[in-house]
Amino acid sequence: MTPFSQHVRERIALEGPITVERYMDLCLRQYYATRDPLGSGGDFTTSPEISQMFGELIGLWMLEVWNAMGRSHPVHLVELGPGRGTLMADLLRATKLLPDFAEAAQVHLVETSPILKQKQHAQLASSGMSIHWHERLEDVPEGPLLVIANEFFDALPVRQFIATERGWCERLVGLEDDCLIFGLRAEAETSLGNPLRIGDTLEWPSVSIDIMQDASRRIARDGGAALIVDYGYWGPAFGDTLQALKAHAYVDPLAEPGEADLTTHVDFHRLAQTALANELRVHGIATQGDFLAALGIEARATSLKKRATPSQAADIDAALARLTERDEKGMGELFKVLAVTHHSLEAVPGLPPLASAP
Ligand code: SAH
Repeated sequence: MTPFSQHVRERIALEGPITVERYMDLCLRQYYATRDPLGSGGDFTTSPEISQMFGELIGLWMLEVWNAMGRSHPVHLVELGPGRGTLMADLLRATKLLPDFAEAAQVHLVETSPILKQKQHAQLASSGMSIHWHERLEDVPEGPLLVIANEFFDALPVRQFIATERGWCERLVGLEDDCLIFGLRAEAETSLGNPLRIGDTLEWPSVSIDIMQDASRRIARDGGAALIVDYGYWGPAFGDTLQALKAHAYVDPLAEPGEADLTTHVDFHRLAQTALANELRVHGIATQGDFLAALGIEARATSLKKRATPSQAADIDAALARLTERDEKGMGELFKVLAVTHHSLEAVPGLPPLASAP
């Protein structure tokens, strides 16, 4: 047993069962503080780690939106949870097409992991931009914003409630014979109303909603846009989506606290509702496959292949297929894209306007 696993057990023995949200928070802090989880030698791989095309196309997206914003100067280019800094490096290289943007943009990375901060530092040292790091979005200075978040919201803790005869009861993590087990709070959470079907699970992403609320409030006041890419769905929906990933395989979320990546599926509808409550405009959602196709990923691949060796060309084709794969479990289908913008921005590249107000 790891010292951290022992620490979680002792804490629960002392204080009693903790909420799933608290458990996720403790484990995720430990997990991201102690490793770089990305890539083939880690626990999971993300789109920017698969191909430079992903960040480049998002860079072009940012340029178009910045143009539509009236080329605000300065503009805060913010990435939430930048991982190894790969997406930002590719994005910045693509935005060099418009030198005025590089002049206007101030880069802000919101990151809690010291190990990943170091990687981002090394990755972006040659970008020629001055980069600012923050622990929280709240610490980014005021001003027009362009925000990108890829696989960020899925990495935040959520509360879970289970429908019982008594009402919605919060799911807890407790101890039995020195083993971590799931349990339920005895009292129901009355603010959630009455469940319709006993056994349903309701996920409440309070941390995500707070961050979305802060981003939305700023965009409503100062202008700008946020682009969110993640695996998830358009709710409301019921279900337990908590997953633990280790070395690219699913494991029991309670088995190795702090050693596996804990995630949940993102409910884009809830994020959109938060933006709409702040009078932002919502664009999408689209699948990642449709979004990247609309931004011209095929043409980008063709142009990259012109300068590639045969083996590099095969890698480009494989990456293109992986990012846009449309079968049920493919990244092109599982991953969704949502943009929220200041009300004055009527359209953004690659995403349809929201069909009807949710
Ligand atoms: N966007 C990157 C990395 C995704 S992994 C990519 O696509 O490759 C999730 C990232 O979010 C990591 O950088 C992790 O350290 C960061 N992170 C997790 N929780 C966070 C929090 N509460 N605040 C800021 N960053 C966080």
